[in-house]
Amino acid sequence: MTVKTKAIVLKHTFLSEEDKKLYLLSRDYGLIEAKARGVKRLKGTLLNTTEDFCYSDFCLFSGKSGYIVNSADKLDNFFSLRDDIEKMALASYFCELTYYLTPTAENAEVFLRLLCNSLYFLASGKRTPAFLKPVYEFRAMAESGFAPNLVACENCGAYDHKVMYFYPLQGAILCDNCVDSVSPSSQEQTCRFMLTPNVLAALRHILYAELDRLFNFKVNSETLNYLDSISEYYVKLYLERSIKSLEFYHSIKQLS
Ligand SMILES: [Zn+2]
Repeated sequence: MTVKTKAIVLKHTFLSEEDKKLYLLSRDYGLIEAKARGVKRLKGTLLNTTEDFCYSDFCLFSGKSGYIVNSADKLDNFFSLRDDIEKMALASYFCELTYYLTPTAENAEVFLRLLCNSLYFLASGKRTPAFLKPVYEFRAMAESGFAPNLVACENCGAYDHKVMYFYPLQGAILCDNCVDSVSPSSQEQTCRFMLTPNVLAALRHILYAELDRLFNFKVNSETLNYLDSISEYYVKLYLERSIKSLEFYHSIKQLS
């Protein structure tokens, strides 16, 4: 049986000199693996479309031993990513994070839009890596079922307050008035981030904005750095594993 789906290559491995295994985020089936045979011999389209970050219309043969790529028509390969090692490193991290979050058929379409939009803004230079990293991290976690409740203070229901605190492990916020009365006691649970109204507004936007408005907000670089520390902490807390491409991204940043 053959099936058609739009998909992006998150990563690949070579099974032999001619054959690749692709890890695809597909719109209709979520995260899947597909064999691409004879990629070097074919040179042209199939070679290109089996590279990382390439987004294509795939035609797949679905058999007993899994999916095999019949054909793939390239929609976008975000080519400009390859000109800049920092952008490349961040794009790899987005793909690896997506792979670990294993989108299913139910949430794959949203993930695909989120990833393709992020790669588009990254490749085109319309948003900086410093902007895109916390946006992708926090929203991708939320889309995977790790969404915290940032609507209001968990205790009194206040929406706004001069200072609020975000508790990553509880996935909740508390206002300044409630923080002492109900603050969690154990050492691990007390990890919290202070949120000014600006930071909270940015976090709410990242979490709750429609996807086509997600990248339309502005904050200064200091706020971005703080958002980054929150979102990266959040990813590490729930993923509970090291992410090689994230370490690589940090090593690139240190050099620049
Ligand atoms: Zn409160």
